[in-house]
Amino acid sequence: MKKASYLILTIIILFITYNFVAKDNNQAKNVILLIGDGMGVTQIYAAMSVSEKPLNFEKFKHVGFHKTYSANSYITDSGAGGTALATGVKTKNKRIGVDTLGNPLKSILVYAEENQLVTGLVSTSAITHATPASFIASDSSRYNYENIAKDFLDVDIDIFIGGGKNHFNKREDQLNLIDSLKKNNYQVIDGVNNLDEKAEGKFAVFTADKHNPKILDGRGDMLSVSTEKAINILSKNKEGFFLMVEGSQIDWGGHDKDIDYVVSETLDFDKAIAKALEFAIKDKKTLVIVTADHETGGLTLVDGDLEKKEITAEFSTDDHTAVMVPVFAFGPGAENFGGIYENTDIFEKMMTAFGFKK
Ligand code: MG
Ligand code: ZN
Repeated sequence: MKKASYLILTIIILFITYNFVAKDNNQAKNVILLIGDGMGVTQIYAAMSVSEKPLNFEKFKHVGFHKTYSANSYITDSGAGGTALATGVKTKNKRIGVDTLGNPLKSILVYAEENQLVTGLVSTSAITHATPASFIASDSSRYNYENIAKDFLDVDIDIFIGGGKNHFNKREDQLNLIDSLKKNNYQVIDGVNNLDEKAEGKFAVFTADKHNPKILDGRGDMLSVSTEKAINILSKNKEGFFLMVEGSQIDWGGHDKDIDYVVSETLDFDKAIAKALEFAIKDKKTLVIVTADHETGGLTLVDGDLEKKEITAEFSTDDHTAVMVPVFAFGPGAENFGGIYENTDIFEKMMTAFGFKK
């Protein structure tokens, strides 16, 4: 009887120890989610084919696919796509952070804030645009930009960098949300080059009044510099951080059926991936996830030459398509991202990596 109870106790202790160690190994302190809007496998391979050097995409050992369809459409838009990634719920197209009935949903960014982590959003579009908005706002329409801007004041986000300043200070309702941000202790900065990454506090960094220009029209290294500075600022927090970085305009190149636009934006996005990986390799406690919300353009490569770095591309549509999109993962818990799953599973996998409870 006594021996039996010792045995049971030993088994319990071993079980607890095993679970603790196993959980610890897969647990991430930080998660950096990079979203290439409209970036399917072809967009990536097009960029790989013309690049002089191997892209950072090729460094990932754990690769999977997710299914992008929304609650009401075989083909998602960036509102429903972003909401699925951010909140783990499939909703109708055009919705932002609300379910099909219009109920607000809690995003991974909000969960991170509730768990004492610091958070950030970086985008090459307006920061109020569908993808970043999905992580911080709740609205029945992605086009309610001024309402979405207001939602930034209800979440204790630590840094956001992107365009869309006009939605904060040139509003139909005459409210000046720049003043409100300052009242909420944000340092409001114009241009990411004016952001001092050694400074403490919360930062609202506006890089454009509307959207940022294309990389082909001189956006420069805004995305990779923003990614690096956001990481440097957020990583000062001992509890960890969540950061979403969006390469927004891969999608717009697809809508324009412009292969040079698509490739240049994908190559620029790859430079932001480099910054995330550089940090994660050193830090060892950071999970980096790279994915898309959907593919745009139905892009195919019908000819090419790897020696000459040439491709011949064709678009089958100027809109989004239904195909699965790739997921690349690096860091603690990366092995959970292999396979084929729903877009909503990205949220679940991030929750698991952080060890958050719903
Ligand atoms: Mg987007
Ligand atoms: Zn689009």
